[in-house]
Amino acid sequence: MIVGGGLVGGTLGLLLAKAGLRTMLIDRIDPAAGLDAGFDGRASAIALATHRVLVAAGLWDALAPGAAPINDIRVADAGSLLFLHYDHAALGTEPFGYMIENRHLRRALFDAQADCPNLTVVAPAEIAGMDIPTAGDGTEGGLTLSDGRRLTAPLIVGADGRASKTRDWAGIRTTGWRYDQTGIVCTVDHDRPHHNIAHEHFLAAGPFAILPIKGPPGREGHQSSLVWTERSDLAPAIMNLDDDAFLAELALRFGDFLGSLALVGPRWSYPLALHAAARATAPRFVLCGDALHGMHPIAGQGLNMGLRDVAVLAEVLADARRVGLDVGAAAQLEDYERRRRFDNSLMLGMTDVLNRLFSNDVAPLRLARDLGLATVNRLPEVKKFFMRHAMGEVGELPRLMRGEAL
Ligand SMILES: Cc1cc2nc3c(=O)[nH]c(=O)nc-3n(C[C@H](O)[C@H](O)[C@H](O)COP(=O)(O)OP(=O)(O)OC[C@H]3O[C@@H](n4cnc5c(N)ncnc54)[C@H](O)[C@@H]3O)c2cc1C
Repeated sequence: MIVGGGLVGGTLGLLLAKAGLRTMLIDRIDPAAGLDAGFDGRASAIALATHRVLVAAGLWDALAPGAAPINDIRVADAGSLLFLHYDHAALGTEPFGYMIENRHLRRALFDAQADCPNLTVVAPAEIAGMDIPTAGDGTEGGLTLSDGRRLTAPLIVGADGRASKTRDWAGIRTTGWRYDQTGIVCTVDHDRPHHNIAHEHFLAAGPFAILPIKGPPGREGHQSSLVWTERSDLAPAIMNLDDDAFLAELALRFGDFLGSLALVGPRWSYPLALHAAARATAPRFVLCGDALHGMHPIAGQGLNMGLRDVAVLAEVLADARRVGLDVGAAAQLEDYERRRRFDNSLMLGMTDVLNRLFSNDVAPLRLARDLGLATVNRLPEVKKFFMRHAMGEVGELPRLMRGEAL
């Protein structure tokens, strides 16, 4: 039973069901409501290696027409002539990854889930309680729905996001902090084409990311999704500006390199924070996605890490089932925990350090980071290492991320 049918839990549900495990996906949100254009205006940067998880889940045919490849990444401090430029051609022909609008991801998940024999979707349904064995010897865990129904299974997956209740019920503590920054998200239409280049400008309040999306017919290559990091005390005032004033503020940060700008659709804001669960597992219980780790969007890695959790967990559980082992037994869960700990900790640490290093206007730090960017830019082998990192092609990759079958 998977609690949380977001992008992480929803993908895991499909993969497990395809691997022959009888799977139940439970979410408090009506899946149809999640398809509404006003539900989630974000677009996600999905690294090349992570996109293979979406391919394995059977989602890529539906996603590919609306996905924009990321062919170049340009990183610079605002106002500095020193920069870092990654060009995918230095490594071959494949892009660094793809920009996919979250609404497209939700639509593809929704359609695929409706057509998946081993998967039962229970939504909208609120989970009101969970009981799992206190030691490793029980055979199942249970969930209580707010309407009083009780469900049991050999394994419960907590994919219920940052404010995970299942994590609390399992007695797993978290550490973390708020960033005093807010991510303002919107889409802009621009005169000049983006040529599939992603830009990250470091401003005093934090990173300002310009991410190329496909755009609707007639405007292909002319729309970008923005993640504008702003001080949390200023963000509400910016969010309350009328469209013209908002666009004027935005243009000051964006610059004019893509010509004149127009806002497309509404704006969203997300308070930014970091959290990490002390453990990924408890008896008959396992965490993944934002329920396990929440990070700053500076490197566009939260969902990527969640899908890496999914790829490893699906592999561990499919292998257990194949040889007739109990999928919820402690040995399987420990294997998952061991394989995810380093990767997740490294990414949490990296995003935190990057944000602290770049979100300020302290002159010596500015100089050090600008020289750092320019130095990496001139060292081809170091640069290739970072480019492979951006593609997600580092560390011990599970089978799905190497393009192999589950
Ligand atoms: C501004 C911004 C930009 C980002 N950009 C990127 C990016 O470019 N690339 C990237 O990789 N990541 C990005 N991320 C991170 C990414 O969006 C998240 O990591 C990802 O969406 C987490 O998905 P999830 O399924 O784990 O959690 P969620 O999306 O939070 O899903 C949790 C689900 O659980 C359900 N639920 C919760 N509690 C209950 C309950 N008690 N009963 C029933 N259901 C319940 C909820 O309804 C929800 O559907 C960004 C984040 C932000 C804030």
